[in-house]
Amino acid sequence: MAEKQFKAESKRLLELMINSIYSQREVFLRELISNASDAIDKVYYKALTDDSIQFDPADYYIKIEADKDNRILKVIDTGIGMTQDELESNLGVIAQSGSLSFKNENEMKDGHDIIGQFGVGFYAAFMVADAVTVITKAYGSDDAYKWESQGTDGYTIEPYEKAEAGTEIYIKMKESTDDEDYDQYLDEQTLQTIIKKYSDFIRYPIKMNVTKSEPKDEESDEYVEYTEEETVNSMVPIWRKNKNELTDEDYEQFYQEQCFGHDKPLKHVHLQVDGNVRYNAILFIPETAPFDFYTQEYEKGLQLYSNGVLIMEKCADLLPDHFSFVKGMVDSEDLSLNISREMLQHDRQLKLIEKNINKKVKQQLLQLQQNDREAYERFYDSFGRQLKIGVYSDFGANKETLQDLLMFYSSTEKKLVTLDDYVSRMKEDQPYIYYAAGESRDRIEKLPQTELVADKGYEILYFTDEVDEFAITMMANYNDIEFRSVSSGDLGIDLDEDDQQATEEADANKALFDEMKTILSDKVKEVRVSKRLKSHPVCLTADGDISLDMEKTLNMMPN
Ligand code: ADP
Ligand code: MG
Repeated sequence: MAEKQFKAESKRLLELMINSIYSQREVFLRELISNASDAIDKVYYKALTDDSIQFDPADYYIKIEADKDNRILKVIDTGIGMTQDELESNLGVIAQSGSLSFKNENEMKDGHDIIGQFGVGFYAAFMVADAVTVITKAYGSDDAYKWESQGTDGYTIEPYEKAEAGTEIYIKMKESTDDEDYDQYLDEQTLQTIIKKYSDFIRYPIKMNVTKSEPKDEESDEYVEYTEEETVNSMVPIWRKNKNELTDEDYEQFYQEQCFGHDKPLKHVHLQVDGNVRYNAILFIPETAPFDFYTQEYEKGLQLYSNGVLIMEKCADLLPDHFSFVKGMVDSEDLSLNISREMLQHDRQLKLIEKNINKKVKQQLLQLQQNDREAYERFYDSFGRQLKIGVYSDFGANKETLQDLLMFYSSTEKKLVTLDDYVSRMKEDQPYIYYAAGESRDRIEKLPQTELVADKGYEILYFTDEVDEFAITMMANYNDIEFRSVSSGDLGIDLDEDDQQATEEADANKALFDEMKTILSDKVKEVRVSKRLKSHPVCLTADGDISLDMEKTLNMMPN
């Protein structure tokens, strides 16, 4: 049987691909810049193994030029360039990656990792271009070539003139329509924003002519405009730098630059992990909650980079819900990206990273709690509620992670205390961790139900947040000691001494109690003599495990 080759309708395939894999057009620039960076890296690698090649960093850069009049955007690099054969195979065959072959043939060292691998990024240019021209001269070759394509009707290659090795890509920008603004990709400001967003940490300078203005002379209000070549990207990612060489200010500056928040972060942690999954991460614990933090609108997530290129702005899978307030970034070479590089193929690596981040954030918070209680209280004021919601919403699955981070106001200490603090002060005969729930501290303080417990000298935790009691009910116990509401029917406090007297009183006043029960009818289950009151004449007691306050909240919830 004769074997036949598949024939792809490449025109259709290209159209399909271009318009379906990327969710945003602007990433075309990310792809072209990544290719330019790869091309320079290849010279760098050649220089490592070939003494005849010098790699002088000053000679290697990427330049972006916008020619508004002719609607052409140029992406220029001084990298390795392409021979005619390479042009044919790399830009003539979709899904052929010269960079992947290069990686397989060369040993990659010292973090200079080549970005390309799928052989499709280049074609992203056709999302914005009517035509693309590539002028290229391979390193060490005398011949230059011009490749040209309108995207759908194949391409042409012809000899061309070019002085230095490297590649220039000309994008003939599409005309803007009512739905699509292509002019923005010729706008200096927009281009800078896109470069900063995705390619800030490309390790070679990305240069642009930037328009400036200054007063004509010292007295004049007239300004003159001029252009100046500037490097737009930061180049060295802060997370790749040695931790010992970085100051708190460096991290704070990064926090501000990346717009993680307007506040000053309370704490940061810089992870450089070399384990099963290799990654760098910088995590911040903010001080104040964003205005939408406790709403549906709030989106948790960390920036995700692969080899210094931004893949996702808010990767939710990297953060557990209970730490949704954490800001920061993760950069890993070990991620298996899908071809648009906007998603990941497997979440195994992400799961491992998330687990580790969970552990590290907890450690940081505990440290803060122990070493700087005042700062921790500021954190807790903003995000304590999220921790409690965390305990409640996952049915206590994260009890271990979260229980030591919780704090409640204490009746005896008159300040926030941890459960560990509480337990360490428990009286010898004290059976439970007692709490009282109410709208405010004041209200709770006036609750008759607290009297008996307080009288025994037991500390009471005040629950003033609706979620407090739900969270604690989910936890059930702390270090095997159960929680008990002061309004519970069974406080575990021995009241026997007065039993005789109570029975007598009950008998003597039976008629009164019956009358009260009739008046209150179905509002109460029973009216009886209480042994728990000291100075208050009457109190309400709950039968069963939940407190009155929780009953109230539950009754308010829709069924
Ligand atoms: P990938 O980068 O994933 O390999 P692309 O479609 O972006 O896929 O590029 C295809 C190939 O074309 C690259 O692997 C590389 O060999 C070649 N190439 C693209 N742009 C350049 C460039 N600026 N300089 C040199 N080679 C390039
Ligand atoms: Mg590429």
